[in-house]
Amino acid sequence: MEACRFCSISQHKLDAAIVFEDESVIAFMDKYPLVDGHLLVVPKKHFESFIDLDHESAFDLVKVIGKLEKALMDGVGCEGVDLRQHFRPFLPESTLVLRHLHLHLVPRRMGDDLYDKALKHEGSLRREPSLVELTSLASKIKARIR
Ligand SMILES: [Zn+2]
Repeated sequence: MEACRFCSISQHKLDAAIVFEDESVIAFMDKYPLVDGHLLVVPKKHFESFIDLDHESAFDLVKVIGKLEKALMDGVGCEGVDLRQHFRPFLPESTLVLRHLHLHLVPRRMGDDLYDKALKHEGSLRREPSLVELTSLASKIKARIR
């Protein structure tokens, strides 16, 4: 099995353009950025998702987000930042999937390419379900929170 790319970057066995690092978190430029300044923020310990993330690593991960958002706004002159996390274990191993938890920090600007080419189409997917429908879905989720 191929070594985990983000574990390799965390251990400095693989090069990346690192912007932040402490004992438990590393942040670096996305190799395939959606827009200039797109960062990845990664716990150094290998976790596949938030499901298995421990409390200490969760705290360490979240506490750097604001610091990095401010640095992005000052450093690349964006007006805002999207925070994203994708958990898609249903995708086959052969696709470009990194099974190491990571957060995307995507610099945003009014009317940027990301909006024009992708996000504005999300609006057509939105609908307005009834409160009964929402409550039914909520009860299915609530019953499984551990
Ligand atoms: Zn890993």
